[in-house]
Amino acid sequence: MTDRPLTRHTIFQTSLMTALLDGIYEGDMTVGELLGKGNFGIGTFDGLDGEMVIVDGVCYQVRHDGSATRADLEACSPYAVATNFVPRIRRKAPENIRRSELSEFIDGMTPSENYMYALRITGHFSNVKTRTVVKQEKPYRPMTEATDEDEEQNFNDISGVIVGFRTPIYEKGISVPGCHVHFIDDERRVGGHVLDFTLTEGEIELCPGTDLELRLPLDSGFSKANLDPEDLDEQLHKTEVKD
Ligand SMILES: [Zn+2]
Repeated sequence: MTDRPLTRHTIFQTSLMTALLDGIYEGDMTVGELLGKGNFGIGTFDGLDGEMVIVDGVCYQVRHDGSATRADLEACSPYAVATNFVPRIRRKAPENIRRSELSEFIDGMTPSENYMYALRITGHFSNVKTRTVVKQEKPYRPMTEATDEDEEQNFNDISGVIVGFRTPIYEKGISVPGCHVHFIDDERRVGGHVLDFTLTEGEIELCPGTDLELRLPLDSGFSKANLDPEDLDEQLHKTEVKD
């Protein structure tokens, strides 16, 4: 294996993780525009109205009960990451592997930890544990409080796809460092932000990203937000990892 990606590839992102943590839950980018930036991705919707999953060029909205529907092209996102997924690295996953072990396996698939990776895991899961944010009303609370009401879902014996990104630690604050992944089942009926899973059998695909296209919102919420909180690590842990 080489020690670097073989070709340039752009990952697109609208707004910043720190803006979302600061309660900036309205964006100026529509789902329609976002799909112009990639056929694959994750994010959320205005008012934290569910988890976003973009797979095969279709954007799905997963609501707090875990149910998925096609997102309205006019809906806006306050935070999303997308790319045109090209599976450049592909491996069959070890059987019956848990998330923690799989993440080490995936580390071994990457040429270097200093690049971004879009990550797709397709297969059958004995269990997927997800959470989904609950739609917020104004005035918006910071995300560490908003996610207290998250509902967790457990899906057993289910086929589907995990979609997301493995982001270098140095991008902390811009994005979610480490793996940030969402799940949707094969029927595109249920899903959410992934907390844990056991993959019975499946395939892992990676698309290395070398270029970041960052789009900052043009509104006063974003311009006045505190994007450099002292307890960033704690906030990221509480809102994204939840253990
Ligand atoms: Zn998420």
